[in-house]
Amino acid sequence: MNKKDINNIYKKKIQLINEYNNLYYNNSNPKVTDQEYDNLKIEIINLEKKYKFLKSKNSPSKIVGSKPLKNFKKDFHRVPMLSLANAFTEDDLLNFEKKILNFLSKDKNYKISYSAEPKIDGISASLTYINGKFERGLSRGDGKEGEDITLNLATIKDIPKKVLDKDFPKDIDIRGEVFIKNSDFENLKEKFANPRNAASGSLRQKNPEDTKKIPLNFIAYTFGFEQGLNQNKQSGYLKKLYEWGFKTNPLNKTISGIKNLIQNYNEVEQQRANLDFDIDGIVYKIDNFDLQKRLGNVANAPRWAIAHKFSSNKAISKILDIDIQIGRTGALTPVAKIKPINIGGVLVSNATLHNEDEIKRKDIRVGDTVTVERAGDVIPHILSVDLKKRSKSSSKFIFPNKCPSCGSKTVKEFNKVTKKIDAVRRCSSEGYYCDKISIEKLKHFVSKEAFNIDGLGKKIIEGFWKLKLIKFPQDIFNLDYQKIEKLEGWGSLSVENLMYSINQKKNISLERFIFALGIRHIGLENAKLLSKHFISFSKFKNLSKINNYDDLLNIDGIGETQVSSIKNFFANELNVKVLDELGKILVIKNVIAMQKKGILQNKSFLVTGKLNGISRAEVKSLIEENSGVTVSSVSKKLNFLIIGEKPTRRKVETAKELKIKIISQNEFLKMLNKTS
Ligand code: NAD
Repeated sequence: MNKKDINNIYKKKIQLINEYNNLYYNNSNPKVTDQEYDNLKIEIINLEKKYKFLKSKNSPSKIVGSKPLKNFKKDFHRVPMLSLANAFTEDDLLNFEKKILNFLSKDKNYKISYSAEPKIDGISASLTYINGKFERGLSRGDGKEGEDITLNLATIKDIPKKVLDKDFPKDIDIRGEVFIKNSDFENLKEKFANPRNAASGSLRQKNPEDTKKIPLNFIAYTFGFEQGLNQNKQSGYLKKLYEWGFKTNPLNKTISGIKNLIQNYNEVEQQRANLDFDIDGIVYKIDNFDLQKRLGNVANAPRWAIAHKFSSNKAISKILDIDIQIGRTGALTPVAKIKPINIGGVLVSNATLHNEDEIKRKDIRVGDTVTVERAGDVIPHILSVDLKKRSKSSSKFIFPNKCPSCGSKTVKEFNKVTKKIDAVRRCSSEGYYCDKISIEKLKHFVSKEAFNIDGLGKKIIEGFWKLKLIKFPQDIFNLDYQKIEKLEGWGSLSVENLMYSINQKKNISLERFIFALGIRHIGLENAKLLSKHFISFSKFKNLSKINNYDDLLNIDGIGETQVSSIKNFFANELNVKVLDELGKILVIKNVIAMQKKGILQNKSFLVTGKLNGISRAEVKSLIEENSGVTVSSVSKKLNFLIIGEKPTRRKVETAKELKIKIISQNEFLKMLNKTS
């Protein structure tokens, strides 16, 4: 790669990170996870280290935050508000201390004392007090210039409006973090991904009256400009802040030695889930102000402090409960309800436990302290249990042998394909007898690939179900719109739109209709095969009367598993009733058979054994191109069994018994006027 190409790659990454910054800091609406953001930042910094010619004033190694928003008056900070360098491992901390000792020209035995302060994940603010009176409050902005949010900050109860103590400096910028408690975030979680975004969004409302409605908090931890501060240590300053009436973090400590810092880090990480505020690491600051002054700053962070971050994909929490969710096909999925914990910028309160075997294997119990992992888009799951933290009175989790929703027996099926008992336990009631299965079936019925009804999402289905507006699919087409119009969040226009989109979907293809029924093992592909076989809705529905299920085995792609599932479906009277009712309301379009009349029309084929120089897929497509069909088993309906090398003996013998024509690959190709 030449210089120009490298520069282009670098510039693109800088552009991208600035877009992320803007969305995160100004819109409180991040586009990517913190982990993705941090990875991009590391990529940029590594490029700068490798290619010294790369330079940008917008590099994350130089900037702090993002430019202040235009809707606020701006003001300059008298002392810049910086960011913090990050450490993730013990090595990072050892390096940090080594660099400091080098800079100060101290030998390695010199003991440095640190103020170790849990790093609250909120947004920082600078409060100017003149003669003890709160005069002005700025956000961090880009570190040099912030937004004037004085009136919004003044709504926060934790911020003293006057400090009368004699030793309070004449002029000082008190700095700290504005945040929202996890318990208060509960009411805002629909709008924001995590408490930090909620605090940032709430604090920067145009109207301070709107900020007042949100319970924001403030914890003080540093200062900017000062005149008359008689302190020489951070730990002393923190004590003073408390005396002056500011809230400080009760978990702040003074510690020396990297080993002790790590011990404290591990202890705080354990407590994290029990705190009512979100922390994303521990900040270590050299306690002595003189040393801080000597060390000074790099472009965007002080040399005398570092943030020891918690992992962005793992965290420790506690299992509050184990919930059993029931899916559309009756599968019982255990879900751990955990104490909410921020993992990489997302507040996690549920973790999947997969199935009964997984719970047994890991011996996961209610009340356990566990490590939860959330990596990429994968659903959070339990990595491990801390057995040392387990209470003596804890007991093994007993998986329910009755469905928690309908009380039916739960069963583990024997899988004919794998010849093993399934790991998944299921509710044995088929379909609408079980409320939870019913709701899931309805959600599937209206989903994108099924009826695709706009404006009738999962939440609305749940709401309508609770209000007894729907129970079966046919109820969707007979909704009580007058009642809906009176519900909270609905109006005449939204009801009209819903009515329109439901009516529009009364016309549907047989294929989508079969898929929408949510029969187990009948996905889109199988629904298509079935619709081609039945051609019309009435023939499909008749299956319950003629009871000829074995015939379905002749459909290529449909096996015993699918057939037994279809059989179960039709054996259930409620399902048949649903079909009847839907048949009266809907226009279910017949499948238009292909008009082509090829050489193999009305002929069916089955291949057994290895072919020579031609794949099964190719044979299948040759048959279909010539209007023939392929089937998956030997039955009376089969016309030709094509045999290759080492054919399945049973198939050949059955074919002989049924007097089915057995042909070779060459004979088959000759039928098409082709030779191999
Ligand atoms: P930072 O959050 O890593 O550290 C600096 C901040 O820590 C300070 O400004 C202050 O607000 C806070 N802090 C809390 N307690 C403190 C204490 N006791 N002493 C000093 N400071 C304390 O740095 P940053 O530059 O504000 O943000 C970077 C973070 O934001 C990263 O974790 C990054 O992943 C995330 N981010 C994410 C996105 C995204 O799109 N997901 C975009 C931008 C930034």
